[in-house]
Amino acid sequence: MNFSDPFGLCPDGTGKDGKQTTNVKDCPKTAQGNAWRALAGAGKSGSEVIKGVVAGGINVVTGNSQNTCQSQNSCFDPSTNTITLDAHNTAGANAVSLSHEYTHSTEVQATTATQWGKNELAAWDASRGVYNKLQGAYRTEAVAEFSVRFNALAVGTPDRMLNLNRWIQNARRRWGIP
Ligand SMILES: [Zn+2]
Repeated sequence: MNFSDPFGLCPDGTGKDGKQTTNVKDCPKTAQGNAWRALAGAGKSGSEVIKGVVAGGINVVTGNSQNTCQSQNSCFDPSTNTITLDAHNTAGANAVSLSHEYTHSTEVQATTATQWGKNELAAWDASRGVYNKLQGAYRTEAVAEFSVRFNALAVGTPDRMLNLNRWIQNARRRWGIP
């Protein structure tokens, strides 16, 4: 397997040969497939996500993240090493979500609600790098989906702390963790 392999190249293995590679050339032209193209055009932040997903052998599927994990856009399940992207998402939104969920895959799993909230904030902060670097229509799509939330998580704003506290309280309520 090398980068000149002509038989289907895509980081999630949806290219024709079914193997995960960092080349996005043959990704399907779907919201999931084009998300890899969006990441490939998003500088170092984007290529780090591609490399990390491939190196980690992370499965990426499009489905119903609301049903899978009560999450609006996406989630990562460490028990199956799988990122689920919600079917309503655009390619640009998926690129941000892939960055967010890939970050979760690298985090120590939270055992306290406070840690859970901090992990959530770290995933948003990491995906802001991709969000800011997306190009053209991908950036427009990501802004349409996420601008309100990124604005509400800007460093130094009261909203950022409000969101963090809300995540901590949700974690306590949902999972009963201390
Ligand atoms: Zn998250």
